[in-house]
Amino acid sequence: MRYCIVGAGFSGAVIGRRLAEGGHEVLIIDERGSVAGNCHTARDASTGVMVHVYGPHIFHTADERVWNYVQQFGEWIPYRHRVQAMVGDRVFSLPVNLMTINQFFGKTMSPAEARAFVAQKTTPTQNPKNFEEQGLNLVGRELYEAFFRGYTRKQWGVEPTNLPASILKRLPLRFNYDDSYFAHPYQAMPKDGYTAVVAKILDLPGIELRLGTRFEDLNESFAHVIYSGPIDRYFDYAEGRLGYRTLDFERFEADGDYQGSAVINYCDEDVRFTRITEHKHFAPWEAESHERTVCYREFSRFCEPGDVPYYPIRQVDEEAMLRRYVERANATDGVSFVGRLGSYRYLDMDVTIGEALAAADRMLACIAEGQTIPAFFVEP
Ligand code: FAD
Ligand code: UDP
Repeated sequence: MRYCIVGAGFSGAVIGRRLAEGGHEVLIIDERGSVAGNCHTARDASTGVMVHVYGPHIFHTADERVWNYVQQFGEWIPYRHRVQAMVGDRVFSLPVNLMTINQFFGKTMSPAEARAFVAQKTTPTQNPKNFEEQGLNLVGRELYEAFFRGYTRKQWGVEPTNLPASILKRLPLRFNYDDSYFAHPYQAMPKDGYTAVVAKILDLPGIELRLGTRFEDLNESFAHVIYSGPIDRYFDYAEGRLGYRTLDFERFEADGDYQGSAVINYCDEDVRFTRITEHKHFAPWEAESHERTVCYREFSRFCEPGDVPYYPIRQVDEEAMLRRYVERANATDGVSFVGRLGSYRYLDMDVTIGEALAAADRMLACIAEGQTIPAFFVEP
């Protein structure tokens, strides 16, 4: 009997390939007409620019296994992600670094001076309980309100006091002029886009790929199902809908170079969008060959039925609901849940791929030893 994998994003593709390499027959389905899930890239029909269809995706990792793994499936070009922030009528460097601090306060402080200056503005808290406490603890009220409060209210639609501190912990604070958005040793873009990488992962005898196919509409039996779709959807929302933020993209074109950078954040709350992505800057090696440019203004809102789920919100009520879905999953035979939607967690691509490789190893071992395949390989 075949294995069925629901979702042709990085989770489904990596697990599917490992199973096929292990000699198993695999059917991979996706309801979309493209592979690569939310990492899907496509050439913009009008400008020819490679566009990140579901929002900007930058590959960054410290995981050697993952880095070596992805090398097999395309050429990766070193790429340093830099982001600017609009606050009022001024533009600043992000993440908050010595340039940001000196620009914002109109000073020319050294690293040590800036550290002491910011320390005296912060509200020290032993264990920040929420996003706001973490922000005030990290940078103090003025910088927090300028860069984080409004942007976060737009992005998440809730008060920063109701969000976990962990969301802000994703961003560094630097007392030097390093303005690289990520700190990982490997940072790169796939030369031909993520969709070409995933298509190559899936290109193996033993894998049948069926696009435009919903799991709900399949009428076949399988040895086991690996489900990388939303866990609440699998159970037909029997315990309620887990909350997600969805994104709307407003596309526009311009001549040449619109904003001089791949991503500019708009931190003020009275500007309705959160950021503008100018896709040609993700492929600087081909930027000169495009006379026109294409940009996406990004708006965040609560995900309603029928919308694409992007960011799991994971507030207290959702944690309780998730636990009920986990119980259901553990009591159901023949299916395992993986990936960002299957486990309702924000996962970067490298973590997704690392977890998928580990899940496939475990699954192959279970099959070889005749053991039951668990509902989860990582506890959500
Ligand atoms: P997905 O990519 O969501 O794939 C799941 C697939 O399952 C989808 O294609 C869906 O159509 C399909 N599916 C679901 N249910 C069904 C069903 N019932 N029947 C059929 N098909 C179904 N990571 C980074 O490392 N760097 C970044 O810069 C970065 N930027 C991001 C920006 C945004 C806006 C977002 C939301 C995420 C970002 N990520 C980034 C994270 C990245 O998108 C994820 O790591 C990755 O998409 C996870 O892959 P996945 O296969 O688990 O899920
Ligand atoms: N954030 C912010 N202002 C910014 C950038 C980020 O307040 O200019 C907050 C916001 O809440 C965001 C979080 O920091 O969700 C993490 O930032 P990251 O860049 O990782 O967000 P993502 O790329 O996932 O949207």
